Amino acid sequence: MTDARDVVAHLRYLQELGVVGFSRDASWRVRASTAAGDAPTDTSKPLEVTAEAGASVAKDLLAVIRTDLGDCTRCKLHQGRTNIVFGVGNPEARLMFVGEGPGADEDEQGEPFVGRAGQLLTQIIKAMGFAREDVYIANVVKCRPPGNRNPEPDEIERCAPFLHAQIAAIKPVVIVALGKFAAQTLLQTETPISRLRGQFHRWADVDVMPTFHPSYLLRNPAAKREVWDDMKMVMKRLSEAE
Ligand code: URA
Repeated sequence: MTDARDVVAHLRYLQELGVVGFSRDASWRVRASTAAGDAPTDTSKPLEVTAEAGASVAKDLLAVIRTDLGDCTRCKLHQGRTNIVFGVGNPEARLMFVGEGPGADEDEQGEPFVGRAGQLLTQIIKAMGFAREDVYIANVVKCRPPGNRNPEPDEIERCAPFLHAQIAAIKPVVIVALGKFAAQTLLQTETPISRLRGQFHRWADVDVMPTFHPSYLLRNPAAKREVWDDMKMVMKRLSEAE
């Protein structure tokens, strides 16, 4: 089986060569060559990939990863799921949120963070000055653990490569890791979330801010203050990176 990360690395390489998108539609190739014109290619000039083309590549990369995931049966979570919850949002997002795994509402709708915790996350995103459509939201595991139990190590191990591939495709400036499972999976640590939060860590070359999970905030509203402190650090980092 091809690892999604290999596919992403290969497609990134093609992007660097100037490939601006992929299609099975033959007319697309005609449009592409017409757009390039009939003049001989000036090989002395560097190939340019426009911002628009970049968006197309990130979107295409996510589509490749989704295709690779397929109707996944790689772990036992597939047995109880209604929908795979792949991820949602802007393929070009500068800010990405990573949660633990789908709950009942997400499993039913096929979209991450749409239940009560999701409504709180949407409020946090809005308070940061974004819409849900501006950011990208995904989870460590893409299928609902039965009865909302915690995801188990073998399930995380089978699913995490797809999250890694999503991050490599999107290339966000900052990832907010929501709760223990997202933070510990990305950072490969067993340090508790209470000690990880409040400072930036790194996943590859991406800044990661661990913070409390919105479900925890529903049970402990006083912790919203710490989450907001973390989000202010994220907003500052995003504005510095502009
Ligand atoms: N909790 C999560 O971690 N992810 C979701 O998508 C919903 C709730």
